[in-house]
Amino acid sequence: MPPSEKNIDGLLREATRHLQAATDSPRLDAELLLAYVLRRDRVYLYTYPESLPPADQRDCFHALLQRRRQGEPLAYLTGFKEFWSLSLSITPQVLIPRPETELLVELALACFTQQQSINVADLGTGSGAIALALAHERPHWRITATDISTPALEVARSNAQMLENVQFLAGHWFVPLNTKRLHLIISNPPYIDSHDPHLQQPELRHEPQQALVSPAHGLKDIMHIIDNTPQHLLAGGFLILEHGFDQGSTVRKRLRDKGFSAISTHHDLAGHERATLARWDAE
Ligand code: GLN
Repeated sequence: MPPSEKNIDGLLREATRHLQAATDSPRLDAELLLAYVLRRDRVYLYTYPESLPPADQRDCFHALLQRRRQGEPLAYLTGFKEFWSLSLSITPQVLIPRPETELLVELALACFTQQQSINVADLGTGSGAIALALAHERPHWRITATDISTPALEVARSNAQMLENVQFLAGHWFVPLNTKRLHLIISNPPYIDSHDPHLQQPELRHEPQQALVSPAHGLKDIMHIIDNTPQHLLAGGFLILEHGFDQGSTVRKRLRDKGFSAISTHHDLAGHERATLARWDAE
């Protein structure tokens, strides 16, 4: 290998070529992996393009590139993902937080005034992304995050770090909740149909299927949450759900049939219907 191919610049060029077929962002992925291996940030790569990483770090970089080429998501390789400006630890036991899920956080913050002190449940919290973003923004909210997966809850707990206003409880959807007096229920449940060809994408195949797939055309868990929310919300409380781009009308109809009001669906940055919000006015 000529010396120029062993320096940071050369390693990145070569890696970008190798990742071309595996990702839409080969250069960025290469930079993030090399920065991770070198325990530096990306700025370092541009500041010292001619620096020569030692052979063991190059080997480690090449091993990670190989895994990335085979479809392993970047977040599982580096063990973290940014969500709502929080750096979250991520393992293959949890769904990788998606940027579109930040929409749910925005909607939740807009439902209440800054001063209101409320009780919230984040159902199926996974890495804790939604609960922790809310806990970070509103330290006076009391937040309960549930998940049926105890390994996922361990990840979520580790992400909570200094945040003291979140408690984590193991169990199926509402089962572990110890209060029925909630002002907000929020969830990004599994909603993909088991036959959806999207599931064959290499990256999704690495994610926990129970966090992605739901029976009944992807709607079983969403319907379960809608049907059981009224027993847990205070009058005037809100439900916010993430759902598939083609599930909005079904979700709105179920909410109407159940007696929710002020139902609205919101689009993600790709322009897809992605989250629906509804208020529960009845006692
Ligand atoms: N939005 C994710 C995807 O399409 C799915 C997340 C979920 O099922 N809750 O990959």
